[in-house]
Amino acid sequence: MFILIIFVSRITLPRPFTMRSYLTSHTTPIEFLNFFEHQIILAISLILLSPLALSAQDSTTTRLSIVAVGDMMIGTNFPSDDYLPPLDGAEIFSQIKTQLSDADVTFGNLEGVILTGDYPTTKKCQDPKNCYAFKMPDHYVAHFKDAGFDVLSIANNHINDFGERGIRNTTKLLQDAGIHFAGVTDYPQTIFQVNGLKIGFCAFSPNRGTVRINDLAVARQIVQDLESKVDIVVVSFHGGGEGLAHQHITKQTEYYLGENRGNPYQFARDMIDAGADVILGHGPHVTRAIDLYKNKFIAYSLGNFSTYARFNLQGEKGISPLLNINVDENGDFVDGKIVSIKLIGEGIPVIDSTHQALLTIQNLISTDLGDIGLVLDKEGRISLKE
Ligand SMILES: [Zn+2]
Repeated sequence: MFILIIFVSRITLPRPFTMRSYLTSHTTPIEFLNFFEHQIILAISLILLSPLALSAQDSTTTRLSIVAVGDMMIGTNFPSDDYLPPLDGAEIFSQIKTQLSDADVTFGNLEGVILTGDYPTTKKCQDPKNCYAFKMPDHYVAHFKDAGFDVLSIANNHINDFGERGIRNTTKLLQDAGIHFAGVTDYPQTIFQVNGLKIGFCAFSPNRGTVRINDLAVARQIVQDLESKVDIVVVSFHGGGEGLAHQHITKQTEYYLGENRGNPYQFARDMIDAGADVILGHGPHVTRAIDLYKNKFIAYSLGNFSTYARFNLQGEKGISPLLNINVDENGDFVDGKIVSIKLIGEGIPVIDSTHQALLTIQNLISTDLGDIGLVLDKEGRISLKE
């Protein structure tokens, strides 16, 4: 800003330009008036440039806003192209684009691989027509980019649906698109810069090929390592049982289809103790409660945010929160907002003005957790309890 003012000063003010120099040099009346004109130009310049000064100041307070959503599978070309959305997916996020990009960092869980071509699934399926293996066409990576996604979890039960080929293709396309990601063994963590802040991100799940939610020693090590290198550590996990019967926080290890899906309550605390600042959970396909521990924000399950054609979207499975949270330079929770989303048709996310996801979260907090130190108002605003 100073450079600009100096520049403006130089082009508008004769030198020397002090009042005394004008008064003592007995200039003509016109020249005397010119002096005031120059002062006015300088004053206007200062007023016009002041927003620049303010914004420069804002960026040094280093608050970070994060938008977080749950599972995303925006159409699959396996087992057939019939499961792809209208307009080749171009409008899938169009009704919530403003809300998605309204933050410094936008996060979601990529529930499937990105892979064009006629490749067999590595999943064991009796009937290929009923095989729930997901792959989105290569060019769909642009839909995530255009919607404003900055970082994605790829630790989940579908990232391995097409084996190494699927993972390799997905990670390459995300890299090419400039979308950060983590969660598979080759990419357990990532670090990127936003707003002059270094953000560390890692993601866990119980599934093969991913960084394991149940290997706590390794998980702690990853978080501690990130904590030593960055300003804010964001931890994502895909864990807990699935469906309506598994909407509550039990504070116990959860089993589903014979698989140990972790203890989300304890995992979140262990990661925060290791240095995590924000915990973003998903996997149950329903929304779960939010929480606060040591001033760090936890979402236990962000539900189905954008799951197309192959998902049951009845009731609780068709609603989810879009979280928008602010943290300070230490990663401590400042305030936030829950925007309620519902899935319409085969799975298109739109704003739900009846706030069902918010109501669900409010209920679950009171049944599962009690006083969490946060207040949620009826518009979805989240603030710290006085
Ligand atoms: Zn899943």
